Amino acid sequence: MVKHIGETGVESALEVVEYGAGKPVIAVTAGVHGDEVTGVYTARRLIGELEKQPPIKGTVRVLPVVNPTAMRCLARRSPFDGADMNRIFPGNTSGSLSERVAAAVWTQTEGADAIIDLHCCSQHLLPYILAVHEEFDFAREHARRITMPVVIRSEGTPGQLFTEACRRRGQAACIIELPSAASEGGVNKPASDLCFNALLDFLRSHGMLEGEVKGREPSFYGGLTDVNAPRAGLWTPVREAGAFVSAGDVLGTLDDEPVPAPEEALLMAVRPLCYVFEGRLEVATYAVRAYCE
Ligand SMILES: [Zn+2]
Repeated sequence: MVKHIGETGVESALEVVEYGAGKPVIAVTAGVHGDEVTGVYTARRLIGELEKQPPIKGTVRVLPVVNPTAMRCLARRSPFDGADMNRIFPGNTSGSLSERVAAAVWTQTEGADAIIDLHCCSQHLLPYILAVHEEFDFAREHARRITMPVVIRSEGTPGQLFTEACRRRGQAACIIELPSAASEGGVNKPASDLCFNALLDFLRSHGMLEGEVKGREPSFYGGLTDVNAPRAGLWTPVREAGAFVSAGDVLGTLDDEPVPAPEEALLMAVRPLCYVFEGRLEVATYAVRAYCE
């Protein structure tokens, strides 16, 4: 099904593909931000898989490109109204194009037992699940079924599809953040592979696809925190993303001065060898293990 949603002189096609019937209903959305194409690619792979292997129980509804006008520009926001669609849920049926599309997505995901919204983060970050896992037990149990290594605590910014779905409708919802590729419009294939396999595991965990869950449950962490270089200069990394560090471990050097880890944490991103400047001094991003497990 393709719905056409428009404001004066502008129209956007919202593609909705559904497999199976009955409960549970799982909604997978991608392309809310038009430059996050690894998520779109992964949603399309899921559609291809469900064509071959429809659910044996329940319904999977996939919205592979929520924001096609933004994707056509490889931009985060639609060029027609400049709105960040992931700040305006549940949308507005008489608003601008992005607000109307958001309202249509809100309707399409109504009644879903679970929502997974595919996004992309910066290219140097590890992939992660983003959830309000300390706010709602059901959000934590939902994320636990997604077999990717890391769940990060969301700051809970309102207007996002997953935060509004959790709070207004009590739905189990989260984001999966996939690192983007280096090139504009590029797909990060290893990140997509990880996410695609985790989505199949998620459906297996609900008895919707044949077979056992193959991957491992994720570990839960607090929010993402940046480490800043003390000043402008040449940053030379020593550690890599994915490493566990203790307080005081040297992450890299700024010119010849060591930059230590402030606390025991998982390194989620480390900037490559580069010059850093005032205004953008962050050289690493980390997360601390959460106690909620
Ligand atoms: Zn996004």
